Amino acid sequence: MAATAIAVATMKVAQVSGPGGDFQIVERKIPTPGAGEVRIKVQACGVCHSDALTKEGAWPGIQYPRVPGHEVAGIIDEVGESVTAWKKGQRVGVGWHGGQDNTCLSCRRGDFRNCRNVLIPGISYDGGYQQYMVAPVGALAAIPESLSDVEAAPLLCAGITTFNALRHSGALPSDLVAIQGIGGLGHLGIQFASKFGYKVAAIGRGPENAALAKKLGANVYIDSKATNAAEELQKLGGAQVILATAPSSKSMSELIDGLGPNGKLMVIGAAFEPIEVTPVQLIMGSKTIQGWAAGTPTDSEDTLRFAELTGVRPMIETYPLEEAAEAYARMMSGKAQFRVVITM
Ligand SMILES: [Zn+2]
Ligand SMILES: [Zn+2]
Repeated sequence: MAATAIAVATMKVAQVSGPGGDFQIVERKIPTPGAGEVRIKVQACGVCHSDALTKEGAWPGIQYPRVPGHEVAGIIDEVGESVTAWKKGQRVGVGWHGGQDNTCLSCRRGDFRNCRNVLIPGISYDGGYQQYMVAPVGALAAIPESLSDVEAAPLLCAGITTFNALRHSGALPSDLVAIQGIGGLGHLGIQFASKFGYKVAAIGRGPENAALAKKLGANVYIDSKATNAAEELQKLGGAQVILATAPSSKSMSELIDGLGPNGKLMVIGAAFEPIEVTPVQLIMGSKTIQGWAAGTPTDSEDTLRFAELTGVRPMIETYPLEEAAEAYARMMSGKAQFRVVITM
């Protein structure tokens, strides 16, 4: 009598085996969602600079092997026990905010974005560089029909971060808002700022991005290599907000004198060197410096809806999952135009 083989359904994942390790493409058993979780058939996953935290092991307590990825777009293909608000077949996204504990002081105050024990996909649990991913319902954002998976994915970290930082910056329509850096974050920041009705000054290094910045909605392009960008902003009256997207503390420091009265430097480019500023620079004109991190899944839904309403879209380069290492290297090179997305 012939023995019957029991087929175990498997999937491909791109994992990092340890801090600084190379990407490995391996087969794993397709996971089963537990209570309060769903399984997502991943369609696309953006590659974010913060994936370096997983790749290089810079996040305290991260465990390996780990699958990076927190710009996930896909379809729910299985729901766990006690999941009532989400259904099989629904299109969903997962961003940086991958769940909260609901018990810390921030959560008890309703400030879920700043949960002390926030879960991050790709760090706290396996993220989107894989064919199937399990996520807690607290991580899910619904994706509107009109947005494709590869368009939606980068909006779930790069998009929400620029959108949310700008809408909480205090800038009002017609205010001068500068976007520093024309990259993965900046090219979306320019579009959102334009659609919010700001007077948009895009700040890049060199003349090559001037035409593109204007096409994305910038009213003014400032080449910070050829001119003193802070002085150029002052000639325009001083910026109400400067959204600092490029992870260069030096160029952020140089821009502070470009702020107008009550102006704010909004920092989202994650650099590790200090920003240099004198107390007098801040005191004169009551200026502020503020940091901002992504947002909750409902903020993601706002971002996606706004993109749907206004036509804001990421510019992307796509790579198949098998080329996750190449996709990551391309993102790290800083040469991608502008967001790298892995497709399954
Ligand atoms: Zn990110
Ligand atoms: Zn919490």
